[in-house]
Amino acid sequence: MQRGKDLSDFPIQYIKGVGPQRVKLLSRLGINTVTDALYYLPYRYEDRSNLKKISDLIYNNIEAIAGKVISAEVIRLPGKNLKIFELTVNDGSGLLKGKWFNQPFMKKNFKVGQEVILCGTVKKNPYWGIGFEMDNPEYEILNNTVETPNMNRLQQSSDDSLIHTNRVVPVYKVTSGLSVRQIRSIMFNLIHSHLEDVTDPIPEEILKRNGLPTLSESLSCVHFPDKEADIRALNSGVSDFHRRLSFDELFMLELGLALIKKGKVIEKGIAFKTGGRLLKKLIEILPFRLTKSQEQVFNEILEDMKRPHPMNRLIQGDVGCGKTVVALMAMAVAAECGYQSALMVPTEILAEQHYINIHSIVEDLGLKICLLTGSKKDKPLDKISSGDIDIIVGTHALIQEGVIFKNLGLVVIDEQHRFGVMQRALLRKKGFNPDVLVMTATPIPRTLALTVYGDLDYSVIDELPPNRMPVETLLFSSKQKDTIYSLIRKEIKKGRQVYVVYPIIEESEKTDLRSAIMGKNAFEKFFSDFTVGLIHGRIKAEEREKIMASFKHGEIDLLVCTTVIEVGVDVPNATLMLIIHAERFGLSQLHQLRGRVGRSSHLSSCLLISYEPYGEDARRRLDIMVRSNDGFRIAEEDLNIRGHGEFFGTRQSGMPDLRIANIIRDAALLSQARKEAFSLIDKDPHLKSSPLLRKTLETSWKGKIELFKTG
Ligand code: ADP
Ligand code: MG
Repeated sequence: MQRGKDLSDFPIQYIKGVGPQRVKLLSRLGINTVTDALYYLPYRYEDRSNLKKISDLIYNNIEAIAGKVISAEVIRLPGKNLKIFELTVNDGSGLLKGKWFNQPFMKKNFKVGQEVILCGTVKKNPYWGIGFEMDNPEYEILNNTVETPNMNRLQQSSDDSLIHTNRVVPVYKVTSGLSVRQIRSIMFNLIHSHLEDVTDPIPEEILKRNGLPTLSESLSCVHFPDKEADIRALNSGVSDFHRRLSFDELFMLELGLALIKKGKVIEKGIAFKTGGRLLKKLIEILPFRLTKSQEQVFNEILEDMKRPHPMNRLIQGDVGCGKTVVALMAMAVAAECGYQSALMVPTEILAEQHYINIHSIVEDLGLKICLLTGSKKDKPLDKISSGDIDIIVGTHALIQEGVIFKNLGLVVIDEQHRFGVMQRALLRKKGFNPDVLVMTATPIPRTLALTVYGDLDYSVIDELPPNRMPVETLLFSSKQKDTIYSLIRKEIKKGRQVYVVYPIIEESEKTDLRSAIMGKNAFEKFFSDFTVGLIHGRIKAEEREKIMASFKHGEIDLLVCTTVIEVGVDVPNATLMLIIHAERFGLSQLHQLRGRVGRSSHLSSCLLISYEPYGEDARRRLDIMVRSNDGFRIAEEDLNIRGHGEFFGTRQSGMPDLRIANIIRDAALLSQARKEAFSLIDKDPHLKSSPLLRKTLETSWKGKIELFKTG
């Protein structure tokens, strides 16, 4: 093979040991080219440089042994509907049993006499309290030929001692028909024959400054680590070589973000010239004084709005910190300068809520406001296109084709976590580079925010309005009904109102969850002296508006609902929330829901009602909810529990995938990558000095950024 060949186009079938059959199997693993294969990293490593003797095993340690299969049987426990596949292995020093539960088909993988490696947590036999066992161990068949010596002996190649044992070995995810051994051999060939063709896109000085190894060394060592390699670092993905590969991903990500951001800086936008008349009036109308933090963030917004470039700013702030009014101030500025504003939110009920909450203030300012949602029949499209309406509150319906604005100058997107970059872009297109303000109540740590929302500037409202008390959060078991009911009664007697949140609208055969409809009936019976209301997503929009309005006016004492009230709903007199099946909700959802109470100077509580049994993750979620009211702290814990993948993936479709890097684990590396990327783009905005880097960047963003707009 020639040097400098483009490995990303180089088909995997030209690699030694890969025939047409394997091409298909590899393709199932997403491996089509040499590059795909090089980046198909082991998901774990096993230290086989010193396999333990069975007699030396230590209980509760994760260990690996090699031995001969002496029996392989499926066992049925008497009286139980449980089949156990038991594999007994002898290594000359002792016996070890591997057990697989309800996987009788495992039997066909093994034959007596084979040599195998087993790796797992060492346990005693639960019944006898002695012996060595592993439940569901990782396994590898070393030698398939013992029982049938005539079989093709080539299968047990002499590479064995080089590739599969006597070293730290990589373990890959497999697919049926392709064993971990086979993949390992293919990788070994690949690394040894093609590594010299790998060209490094990252400038050498950047590698030096950040103490990172070269690309080919990293790829080699991440598949086949040296003897001295630190197995713990390898297994947690933080070896120097993993770090180098993670850096690449983060660097490409940040380069793209730097370019997008730079592009926006040079784009022409609206320079709002405000005399501050409407703003002053608005501040007079407001029934409260702005917090310092609200003022400061608004000033940052105002500076942006005055500039002749589009604003792209993210406002973070915990639930209840008062983001809406800050947005309203920005909209007043836009209106005074003769521009329309759109406020886009993720759900109809939230749109309705915002509309209810702000329309009277807006009208007092002498401005026109309307609501635009999918299920709203009378859509005031004409008044929007003629410019009669100044402020439009709505859902996704705002970005539909038929909606034409006269002069959209400001776009506010609330609860950003539900929208991707692409939707933001669509709404922007409705105006001539309007200013964009994004607000999110899912606070995330700053480094993370800079990446997840990396193309945006960033402000935080880090202060709650005065006289707010933290919401007291208590965990109850579903069996403590009497206590719970008496707490509800006490609260309503005081003149306060109550939310009861259910995970589902109606019961079904598929789950045994309690439902809102069922709950409403039960509460109505039990609290016949109170008014009980019901609201959920299947109720028609007009009806829903009425229900929420009467809850707001205090005509409903207890509102049974689903998560439709999760965001934005603002009824300060509601001071008690029950969350039924709290173990089923995600952490940020619980925090959002809880944010509906604690909106006044009255003491508020949130009762988490849980139904046993629930798993470890649920226990952690409930635990942190009880301990903390701090959204940032909760978000961090949420990331720890869920892992970063889901978070990153769903938030920001349109960015390159992170397959090796982990923005939580690699937070420090992320900052380094960001610094390098932004300073490189500053010096060389078109990456003229490095065509290879430019190409790699384009590939990793799959054409999603207009890279080299000349401005
Ligand atoms: P969020 O940031 O969660 O969207 P909202 O904008 O809904 O919060 O505000 C929560 C509540 O706090 C609303 O009732 C709002 O009127 C009120 N509020 C906002 N700012 C202040 C303030 N500076 N002082 C007192 N109350 C405020
Ligand atoms: Mg809000």
